[in-house]
Amino acid sequence: MRFSSFPPICARIMQIPGHIDPITTGTVPLRGGNRVDLVGLTREGIRGALEEAGLDAKAAKLRGKQIWHWIYHRGVTEFDAMTDIAKTMRPWLTERFIVGRPTVVTAQVSNDGTRKWLLAAADGQEYEMVFIPDADRGTLCVSSQVGCTLNCRFCHTGTMRLVRNLSAGEIVGQVLLARDALGEWPKGTMASAPDADDEDDDAGHYTADGRMLTNIVMMGMGEPLYNFDEVKGALKIVMDGDGLALSKRRITLSTSGVVPMMARAGEEIGVNLAVSLHAVNKEVRDEIVPLNRKYGIEELLAACAAYPGANNARRITFEYVMLKDKNDSDADARELVRLLKQYKLPAKVNLIPFNPWPGAPYECSSPERVRAFSNRIFEAGISAPIRTPRGRDIMAACGQLKSAATKPTRAELDRIAEEKQAALG
Ligand code: SAH
Ligand code: SF4
Repeated sequence: MRFSSFPPICARIMQIPGHIDPITTGTVPLRGGNRVDLVGLTREGIRGALEEAGLDAKAAKLRGKQIWHWIYHRGVTEFDAMTDIAKTMRPWLTERFIVGRPTVVTAQVSNDGTRKWLLAAADGQEYEMVFIPDADRGTLCVSSQVGCTLNCRFCHTGTMRLVRNLSAGEIVGQVLLARDALGEWPKGTMASAPDADDEDDDAGHYTADGRMLTNIVMMGMGEPLYNFDEVKGALKIVMDGDGLALSKRRITLSTSGVVPMMARAGEEIGVNLAVSLHAVNKEVRDEIVPLNRKYGIEELLAACAAYPGANNARRITFEYVMLKDKNDSDADARELVRLLKQYKLPAKVNLIPFNPWPGAPYECSSPERVRAFSNRIFEAGISAPIRTPRGRDIMAACGQLKSAATKPTRAELDRIAEEKQAALG
């Protein structure tokens, strides 16, 4: 898609200028009526829920451990299938608890094999997740919020009007659902007899077969560091050794630059960091990543330099969207190299050709320009691969995610009308 005028009127009037603060989000509704959804709780949380329901401490500890294993190692959603839990206890659990999954609204497959799911939460809020298969890996792109408050000008998600944080359960639920859809929970049977009761007998035997889902990137909808606690809770579960057991080296969290949360992300979550830099001077970054008005480039790069765990073996990825005549000159490339060297950053640069969406105010740089930009950075000794767009035909590529079904409320419509008035006046 190409645009002749810049920026087109529709993009100018739909922008919310300077809207860069996190918004207050409502509480997450219960799925399963009065029953408690165990997905997203910590191990202690599950144990506590079982105790609250009436089990004594010892039984709650044992059952909690078994249930955890069934949920996260085996992908089981029915208590009836948890064969090492006493038959009489299973209906008791079913009455009180559920092992939830997001509802799948639509599932699409791109002609390059990329898959996109539109999911619905219990309150009907919709968010998307994307699976990108490659020769040597399979990457799940996970959402952290419904929409995003940050309004980066090149990002479709930023134009969504309805925003709420996803809960840890809704975040980890995406990973569980992906493993359901890819059919890759370990097969085989537990060794314990169906009626085994009081024994701590969850050391069953099964064969864990090869996985398609090997990597996770927090690069779907939303700014993960504006939903820190829930993202942390979800990733801790994903990394738990007796469960999904993904290594922190296979998980990447991408932030647009929420500086005050970056050190905590490194210390408390410890996954790889990707930073959406996208511009090398204040004027351009202020325009395309409005959060820059709050946390500027210098502050951001200093926080990157201090990121716990970053070193030459675990580099920070700097994402850079290629926007024609906006941030793509040789001078920009040179300045990018200078900044990365000035802050002594163990860095790699990921060049993302801009993915268009209806009404977007930018164009993608030409392939020659992207290559030239990449070469300038490579010449300075910094890796700068060009990311191949995936799933563009189903609007699954970076920055294209937006729930089509989002309906603005009356208050939202009023706000949009006011903004239009202000922009025109
Ligand atoms: N909110 C986080 C993570 C989600 S976006 C962040 O901004 O980092 C994942 C990446 O896609 C970010 O680098 C983002 O800037 C980039 N992106 C957004 N819109 C895009 C578009 N239309 N084309 C290409 N990349 C885009
Ligand atoms: Fe939000 Fe990231 Fe999109 Fe910016 S690029 S609007 S931070 S999802």
